[in-house]
Amino acid sequence: MITVEPQGLVEVEKGLKIIPGANTFIASMDKVVNWSRLSSLWPVTFGLACCAIEMMTTGSSHYDLDRLGTIFRGSPRQADFMIIAGTVTKKMSPIVRRVYDQLPEPRYVIAMGSCACSGGIFNSYSTVQGVDSFLPVDVYIPGCPPRPEALMEGIIKLQEKIRKEQFKWSAWR
Ligand code: SF4
Repeated sequence: MITVEPQGLVEVEKGLKIIPGANTFIASMDKVVNWSRLSSLWPVTFGLACCAIEMMTTGSSHYDLDRLGTIFRGSPRQADFMIIAGTVTKKMSPIVRRVYDQLPEPRYVIAMGSCACSGGIFNSYSTVQGVDSFLPVDVYIPGCPPRPEALMEGIIKLQEKIRKEQFKWSAWR
């Protein structure tokens, strides 16, 4: 709801005020930094199994992921988060962790699909039973595989999480 204060400031949303005619806004540093981060979330291109096909589809023109400010990057050095899309084997998990370690901070992880969340149908000696055993996961997306709409919803959930962040770090980071 838009409210006009006695000093002429207009609150367009909680914590964001504008001075009409002055081309100026007033907000906390957290709000500005979080807004800029969540508006250009770039995932590193990284796929492991069938869920990766749905992730690639999400990047196609039909779903137009770019409208969320999300563009796949070819290097973890240029990315903000990674989508773990597919089954992670115990042999592969150190490589996944290495890619995560190469992301600059602050960094985030989305676990896409049942396999990434919990091992899925592969309750075997060779499969990691949930990537949160070796990575901090911010958003879990259930399904086998989740549809592109579900991945987009997951990215929106991550944006909502970043919107509420303050300058503090978790033990994982
Ligand atoms: S959750 Fe299903 S679709 Fe996704 S990687 Fe596992 S088996 Fe494949």
